[in-house]
Amino acid sequence: MVTNQRELTLEIRTADCYPVLLADTKNQAVAAIHAGWRGTAAGIVPTAVEKMAALYGTHAGNLVVAIGPGIGPCCYEIGREVAQQFAPMLMQNRHGKLYLDLAMANRQQALQLGVAESQIEVNGVCTFCQAEQFYSFRREKEQAGRMRSLIGIA
Ligand SMILES: [Zn+2]
Repeated sequence: MVTNQRELTLEIRTADCYPVLLADTKNQAVAAIHAGWRGTAAGIVPTAVEKMAALYGTHAGNLVVAIGPGIGPCCYEIGREVAQQFAPMLMQNRHGKLYLDLAMANRQQALQLGVAESQIEVNGVCTFCQAEQFYSFRREKEQAGRMRSLIGIA
């Protein structure tokens, strides 16, 4: 979702997937993105930035990006079919199992678009590990609640 309307607040609900929030501080526009592995593999962050460019004249150099919290590479075990979608540098192999760093995948995409490294905040806290702080779909299955991530223009 993208908007430049001050009366709107965009909200993403997640439990392990990553919320990615974008703010174009020059043209006063924002985006709220739900980035699971499918969306990330499909380039949902670049797609949102293209949309913001078309609608609001956004340049990646004017973006501030917030990524997470979501499931971390400590816990996000993936199968081969998911692994095929991502560059090897985004995965860790521990005891023959593959773990994906989905935050890093989205960060890399933002960097490739031209977002300044200093303008990207990766929360870095794992929703699966931190049971007292966060909901986790992998941990709680259908019982999992959702975290709300919101962005608007003040
Ligand atoms: Zn973890």
